[in-house]
This record gives sequence, structure tokens and C-alpha cells, in this order.
Amino acid sequence: MTKLTDLNIVEAVAARKKNEFSCVDMVKEYIAAMDKFRGLNCYITETPDLAIKQAEESDKKYAAGTAGALEGMPLAQKDMFCTKGVRTTAASNILNNFIPTYESTVSDQMNKQGAVLLGKTNQDEFAMGASNTTSFFGNVINPWKASGARSNQQLVPGGSSGGSAAAVAAHLCIAATGTDTNGSSRQPASFCGVVGMKPTYGRASRWGIVAFASSLDQAGIFSRTVTDSALLMEHMCGFDPKDSTSANLPVPKWSQEVSGSLKGKVIGVPKEFRIDGMPQEIEDIWEKGAQWLRDAGAEVVEISLPHAKYAVPAYYIIAPAEASSNLARYDGVRYGLHVDGKDLNESYKMSRAQGFGAEPTRRIMIGTYALSAGYYDAYYLKAQKVRRKVANDHVEAFKKVDAILTPTAPSSAFAIGEKSDDPVQMYLCDIFTSPASLAGLPGISIPVGLDKENLPLGLQVIGKPWDETTMFQVAWALEQAANFKALPQEVA
Ligand code: GLN
Repeated sequence: MTKLTDLNIVEAVAARKKNEFSCVDMVKEYIAAMDKFRGLNCYITETPDLAIKQAEESDKKYAAGTAGALEGMPLAQKDMFCTKGVRTTAASNILNNFIPTYESTVSDQMNKQGAVLLGKTNQDEFAMGASNTTSFFGNVINPWKASGARSNQQLVPGGSSGGSAAAVAAHLCIAATGTDTNGSSRQPASFCGVVGMKPTYGRASRWGIVAFASSLDQAGIFSRTVTDSALLMEHMCGFDPKDSTSANLPVPKWSQEVSGSLKGKVIGVPKEFRIDGMPQEIEDIWEKGAQWLRDAGAEVVEISLPHAKYAVPAYYIIAPAEASSNLARYDGVRYGLHVDGKDLNESYKMSRAQGFGAEPTRRIMIGTYALSAGYYDAYYLKAQKVRRKVANDHVEAFKKVDAILTPTAPSSAFAIGEKSDDPVQMYLCDIFTSPASLAGLPGISIPVGLDKENLPLGLQVIGKPWDETTMFQVAWALEQAANFKALPQEVA
């Protein structure tokens, strides 16, 4: 018999409606799996008692015929999402003891549809990183292992939402939220062999998500399938007056539109994404992806995004600048870590020095420098101008194409520690995800194959602003063609 933890959301909801199992049964299987794989360090906080209580409620709702769209589905929330009464740390010592008195809009909307909370997932500290090695709570280990010479190495799950991606891959939750500021819901999906997506900037409310770089931050989702991703997003998105950048637009029923035909659609392949040193197998799978889309009826054309190569340097000015401002609120007075000094000033200094790890500290320093008088024009303003050019490239491209196809990341999962002493190498992990983030576009990563070391590779589909529908349809066509069914060795 299939384990309950092997079902995706569409399958689990259908089977639950037929009374094939109870929500409590399913949650208990997940809790057992979380126990078994605790060594992967996917969760910062586990909430098994709450999960069982919620599952009992869900069973009652199924019996009463009042089940929501996500009723009884055991989900995890990235530890950037404030959860009422459940510790929320952003993987930082400075929020180690923070228990929010409110719920983020996104998680609240999921809860209203019956979602069950298994726990809060590990991540890079304040979502700063691409390998989940900057968390105060330790590294997350990718459940996938390389075959061959590197088989004894522990690999990173990607980042910053590494715990969410690894938890979905290891079947420690049915789906999990992420955040995506520059790729954090797409690159970890590629490293862990799951689907990861971010909507258009403004689709999902940022209210109650720990702020990192507010002009870029969006809620994301990790799932087993494109249809699950569409279904979850349908319920996560929507107008929220509490977020001034939230768009007052109707949210389509994406889950019912994913299987649309690609006839008449034009897909762009950006020539600048063929970078030096990219493994041949990534080139090959990208070409294979283009062919799958042609087979599904689309036309594939080459496009140019001439400023895309400046996206990463611009991002690493803009995001730290915004972070230095957002993280100024952690003063050790109202909430979070407090360290007593001889006076108020020393208390601030000591709380912040002990509260923040190396990566947030580096970003606060870079951001403060970039925003300071005399340097603002040279760095911050210049980076904003570059951002506009990157966005305009996409505006031009979308006059000719309906969606863009690229690899998600320039490599498969690398070893823990491999890039940790060279921040620039780590920042370059964002090379294919950054342009869409700067332009505020929706993006999705779909697992499409394994490399020669048997590690998953993902392809990314980028959509026009507010056109997640086409993005999901292209992703669904790739999913059908790739038929990726591989699982991490120990989970299979
Ligand atoms: N690699 C990016 C960074 O370190 C990821 C940001 C994100 O999407 N949270 O800033």
C-alpha cells in the first residue's frame, strides 16, 4: 500500500473524501517520519500536539461536509512566517524566544482552508543565503545523496528555504511555504527535486512575514506537483489592505487551468543565460525542456535579456540596503534577544552583536555603507537604475513571448561548506533566479531530471506579471514530459 506520506495534496484530499483514512492517521504518519529523519534538521520547531488537534478538527469537518480546500493537509511553514502562539525565529538568535501574538496573512488564509501545521522549517538566517548554512539552528542536510566519488558527502538543500524544500523532498510534510526574495523558493526546489514557486510581487501579502528586503520579498510554496503548487497559491494569494504593496486583483483558479494547451504560445530562451562554466548536463536538460515544450505545441525562440548579468550585483546592493533598514528594529528592547549592558547604548550593541550571525551582520554593514551620504548615488541609486534596466529587458521580451524557460540554478546541490568561505561564490548561486526577482515576475522551478551523480536538476519558467496561469501551464507541460518520479534514496 502507498504510504500516506507519499500522497500529494490532490490525491490526499480525494482519498480523504472517500474516507480511505482519517486526517489524524495521516498526521501521525508524518510525525513518525519527522522523528525518523530529524537528523536532516529540516524543522526548527515541531508542533505535533497542535497538528493532531487540528487534524481532529479536520476530521470533524469532513464528517460534517464543511471541509476546506486544504482540509487536514499536513503542511510546514518556513520560520519567516509569524504563527500565532508558535515560536518564529527567522533562524536567528535575535528572535530565538519570539512567540508572535498574530498570524501572517498567508498562513492565516491556509489555516482557514483547513491546513494542519506540523512545524516551522529551518532556513538561512533572515532568509540570507543559498545553502541553508547560515541558520543559528544549524545546517539542513539535503535528503539526496550523490552517487560515485562524493557519495559520503552531506549536501546542501539550497537556500534560503532549505528546510522547506528538504522536508517536502523527504516526505516530512505534504507541502511547505517558502519566501522568495531572489530565488529562495526556486533554487532549493531545484536542489531537492521538488516544485518551488513564487508569484508576481504583490500577489501574496507580506503582512506577518519577517521582513528582509521589502521591495523583493514574496511568499513562495514547495510542493510535489505543479497542480498542488497552483492549488496552494490560489489560497495563499489575494488582496490584503494590511500590505501596501498587495495588489487588488482577483486570484484565478489556477489549479483548474494548469493543464491548458500550449498551442500558439511562444516561449523565450534567453541567450545570455548560457554562461561559462555551466555543466553540459544543465545545457542539455535545458535544450530537452525546450524540445518538450515544442512537442506540447509551443514555439520556442531565442530572446535577449542584455542586463540580466547585472542582476546579481544590483541585488546585492538593493537587498542589503533594505535589510539594513528592516533589521534596525531588532534593538533588544521590545522583543527578541536582550543582553544587558552598562547603559542603553551598550545593551543595543550587545544584543545586536550576539543576536545576529555573520551573514546578516555582513549585509547590515554593506547596506548601511551603500545608503550612507556620499555613497547613496554611487551604489544604491545606481543599483536601482540597473534594476529598472533588467525589468525593461523583460518588458521587451514579453512583447514577443508568453513565458521564459531557463535552468533554475547553475549547478546541482553542492557539499555543505563548499562555498561558505567565499560570499561571492554563494551569491552567484542566484544568477538565474535574480533577474525575475528584480523585475517582480512570477517564477517556478520544476524537477526534470537527474545529473550524472543522480542529483536532481530543475528548470525555471518565468511568467509575465500577473500571468501565473501561463507559467503554471508551461510548468505542467514540462512536468508531464519529464515525468520525474525519483525520490531521495532513503525515502524511496
Ligand atoms: N541567495 C539569496 C540571498 O542570499 C536568496 C534570498 C532569498 O530569496 N531569500 O539573499
